[in-house]
Amino acid sequence: MIQTERICELNNKPVTDGVYVAYWMQASQRADCNHALEYAILKANDLHKPLIVFFGLTDSFPDANQRHYAFMLQGLREVSSALKHRGIKFVLRQRSPELMAIEIAKDACIMIVDRGYLRLQRHWREFVAERVSIPLTQVESDVLIPVETASPKEEFSAATFRPKFHRLLEYYIVPLKQEKTAINSLGLELDSLDTRDPNRLLSRMAIDRSVPASEFYIGGTTAAREHFDRFMEHRLDDYGTSANDPNAASQSNLSPYLHFGQISPLEIILRMRSITSPGKQDFLEQLMVRRELAVNFVFYNPHYDQFQCLPDWALQTLSAHANDSRPYLYTMSELEQAGTHDPYWNAAQQEMQRSGKMHGYMRMYWGKKIIEWSRTPEEAYQTALYLNNKYELDGRDPNGFAGVAWCFGKHDRPWGERPIFGKVRYMNENGLKRKFDMQKYVDMAGMATKNKPFH
Ligand code: FAD
Repeated sequence: MIQTERICELNNKPVTDGVYVAYWMQASQRADCNHALEYAILKANDLHKPLIVFFGLTDSFPDANQRHYAFMLQGLREVSSALKHRGIKFVLRQRSPELMAIEIAKDACIMIVDRGYLRLQRHWREFVAERVSIPLTQVESDVLIPVETASPKEEFSAATFRPKFHRLLEYYIVPLKQEKTAINSLGLELDSLDTRDPNRLLSRMAIDRSVPASEFYIGGTTAAREHFDRFMEHRLDDYGTSANDPNAASQSNLSPYLHFGQISPLEIILRMRSITSPGKQDFLEQLMVRRELAVNFVFYNPHYDQFQCLPDWALQTLSAHANDSRPYLYTMSELEQAGTHDPYWNAAQQEMQRSGKMHGYMRMYWGKKIIEWSRTPEEAYQTALYLNNKYELDGRDPNGFAGVAWCFGKHDRPWGERPIFGKVRYMNENGLKRKFDMQKYVDMAGMATKNKPFH
């Protein structure tokens, strides 16, 4: 079922008699459990037209580098072959997405697009909606509850968001029917790059190559499902008790796949429905409430990537302590090279640099220490975002913007006042040592290999 709240007409243009119906795939990079794709098939069948799916590959997506592109192209290879099995042509061109959309629209009756919440994603959709002469319909598929339905405003915290979310949830947890295409589009003559060799595609792109592809995470829906199967079988039961332990392999590792839309949150929830496990509620809290609270934040807060997005109390207290003396000050390059005095922080930075994914608990510690070791909170904010978005495979995501903001007080409450942090929650290495075997974590960060991964 595709709930009407997921669907939004982005312009008021008339349907024309084009050659095909087009689905502009951008945020939901998957052929399964994708509301936008199924809606596009229904539209194509109604209009007795073939459906094509297209993707514009830009060399200059903000903060994206070889690591992100490699992961994404691995996923798109799978999208292309999965669509082929359904009789749908996938068209990939090295072109900025919004320009490719305008190009493709010339021969289309209507265009469907999935939904993204970040500034650029929203700008692209508005830009295209204004310039094409066909309808552009947006279908929201990467959240369980459409963002405006979940809440009409920016939420203060998980505590204010959670009850609203849970009240509506049941209605949205329904399977999505896989539609059949009435007309096969594979024979349509449309130029496309060959998706079968991601490395070849990568080599012809003019992208930032400063961060290599991850050896630890392979992109695509199949890999996402393998992580999920492993999680359900071996990790979920301990999630509630061990997910915070950086040595315990208890997290799902799904965030890179969710970020690129390679797996649907709905698919994950539906598969968990019938199981009972002591870790289930804790995991669902993260996947549903925390993840969609992050979407709520970037959607309603226009400053989501800037220090000024913080609540007033956090801005005031951090400013009041901006001139406090700092025991250590590090430059961006010292931080980037994991060259601080703190072995735990360095290990976390190395884990992120090498694997493309830092353990969740260490991300909090990592962000808090950047506040402590930067000249100003504003500088710390930009440093944390820069490093997060550069090295994390799941970076440049609503969760990343919300995660960094959380370190500075967003979605949190004031705590006891102390130097540098003011009333913003503080974390220190003694807390880490008390709870976990931190030497083990340091050793792991130095020794992990492809065959003996971090988690
Ligand atoms: P699991 O623990 O298995 O959780 C399952 C899913 O729940 C995750 O994939 C994610 O979608 C969601 N989730 C888990 N924890 C959170 C959380 N705290 N907030 C929102 N959603 C959550 N997450 C990103 O996806 N991208 C980022 O760039 C990112 N940067 C962060 C930076 C900082 C400073 C902090 C404190 C947190 C950041 N997070 C980010 C949130 C969180 O740490 C990761 O989502 C999580 O560690 C991903 O690993 P996993 O998929 O194995 O998580």
